Amino acid sequence: MVELTDVTKVYPGGVQAVRGVSLAVGYGEALAVVGRSGSGKSSLLNLIGTLDKPTSGQVRIGGHDVATLTDRQLSGLRATTIGFVFQQFHLTSGVPVRDAVADGLLYSSVAIRERRERADAALERVGLGHRLHHRPHELSGGERQRVAIARALIGNPPLLLADEPTGNLDSNSGATVLGLLTDLHAAGTTVLIITHDRELAARLPRQVEISDGVISHDSGAGIGKRSRQGDATAEKADRTVVLPVIGRTA
Ligand code: ADP
Ligand code: MG
Repeated sequence: MVELTDVTKVYPGGVQAVRGVSLAVGYGEALAVVGRSGSGKSSLLNLIGTLDKPTSGQVRIGGHDVATLTDRQLSGLRATTIGFVFQQFHLTSGVPVRDAVADGLLYSSVAIRERRERADAALERVGLGHRLHHRPHELSGGERQRVAIARALIGNPPLLLADEPTGNLDSNSGATVLGLLTDLHAAGTTVLIITHDRELAARLPRQVEISDGVISHDSGAGIGKRSRQGDATAEKADRTVVLPVIGRTA
């Protein structure tokens, strides 16, 4: 699902946030990325999510070398393949949650009516079927993050990236949100969660530690996507995500 080879990221001004990372994540895996603040976790997630381009090295997502894709193909990859969840929820104030979630399909060719129906189903899935018409300020932090997860999963992306999804939540809400993410993993989604909560990280099958822009520990190192015999996910290892052409609806 994800294959990084010797990836670096140097920001303007010279900060070397990612300093040579190679990482393979198989289809259907779930892993935690841990590390101190400033170690480069978010930078890495942005590269995997194709929100940012590496300074050097190769990023492959769903079998595609991201650098070879056109802008339109890249938008298609993001719209159909990758779901994002952030610490700050990123819900627009005043927008009812059903519409916020339906917006997760904005860059697909799905018609508004079906977008709403799928939003309702996604909200149902995260236990918020009774909150369709609420606005973000009428929800608790945990509920807001569940809305954000519903928005991320409405397009059924095979890859879900979460950057400190429980960082702003109390431990109860955090546990609910983690439960949802692990349910998605159980249903086949590849899930990558950045967290500095070691307990939370320990509950995922694989932990990758980032220190100062490099991988300092990987509990799954060498278990690459192809060598996991007997694992159902290995059967899907040679899949290539088919990219739709989007951005032009009839
Ligand atoms: P983490 O998510 O682990 O806290 P980040 O990836 O956000 O770490 O940051 C890694 C390093 O890169 C830090 O030193 C940070 O200050 C720097 N950095 C992050 N984003 C930018 C940016 N857009 N421009 C310049 N420096 C950045
Ligand atoms: Mg960060």
